[in-house]
Amino acid sequence: MELFKPAYFQNLEDGRIKCLLCERRCVLNNGQKGFCGANKNNDNELKNLVYGRPAALNIDPIEKKPLYHFLKGSKTYSLGTIGCNFKCSWCQNYHISQKSMDENLHGEVILPEKIVTAAIQSNCLSISYTYNEPAVFYPYARDVGLTAKENGLKNVFVSNGYQTDSIIQDMKNWVDAINVDLKCFEKDKHKKYTGGDMDIVLRNLRSIADSPIHLEITTLVIPDINDSDTELSNIADFIAKELGKDIPWHVSAFHPDYKMTDRNFTQAETIYRAIDIGLCKGLKFVYPGNIF
Ligand code: SF4
Repeated sequence: MELFKPAYFQNLEDGRIKCLLCERRCVLNNGQKGFCGANKNNDNELKNLVYGRPAALNIDPIEKKPLYHFLKGSKTYSLGTIGCNFKCSWCQNYHISQKSMDENLHGEVILPEKIVTAAIQSNCLSISYTYNEPAVFYPYARDVGLTAKENGLKNVFVSNGYQTDSIIQDMKNWVDAINVDLKCFEKDKHKKYTGGDMDIVLRNLRSIADSPIHLEITTLVIPDINDSDTELSNIADFIAKELGKDIPWHVSAFHPDYKMTDRNFTQAETIYRAIDIGLCKGLKFVYPGNIF
């Protein structure tokens, strides 16, 4: 199936280009890389430096994404690359997400057909674009995804929800399920810790909830960042009232990582409190994550 491909960039009058993959909308001089380190202005065209260059390939249970209401009990072929459009100081995949792509990399380029063949041979029912933000490798993900779709596989995004609207609209043609990370519910805090505008994430969540894409949401509950009753209530309230009470909410425990090593693991009691709050707000499915 041939789909109309959205523009990945725009040529500006001053000779620079603007990347349209995510709402950072980086404006780039010739030769300059974007914030994510995965895209570059190459002779006034956007070059996706990570195309065909996965930094992580694994076979995971679909529940690890986490998706609990989609292809239950199946395996998903999971792929991620270098780069991210957020800069979360607690990132648990920082070793790939917070790096810039080495342009002098040699070695095998793994084309979409090869990914799809490997997924089928591994008895996976889907391909997941995960580990780092798939918006930054959207040109590669889309080519893999359309080939996967032709071969009867489903496509899964694990995302921070910061795509441009044109990319969100395009995703509706080929992405079957998505888990979006809703990190907190205060605009200033969201900006401070991720670099992204929370209202854009909320806009995209509303758009996805109103589409055929299966949606689940994750919040990493971090001590003294987003674990207050008020903040957890506001997140749960938004999901219940604006997205739907059937949308599953995963509340996961934080462990110290990357630049955030100044606090302890999230206590199990905090996660159970978040579950109570979610249920009180009317959500039908609230799940704990990362507690043992
Ligand atoms: S995908 Fe990368 S280059 Fe493009 S706008 Fe987002 S951060 Fe900038």
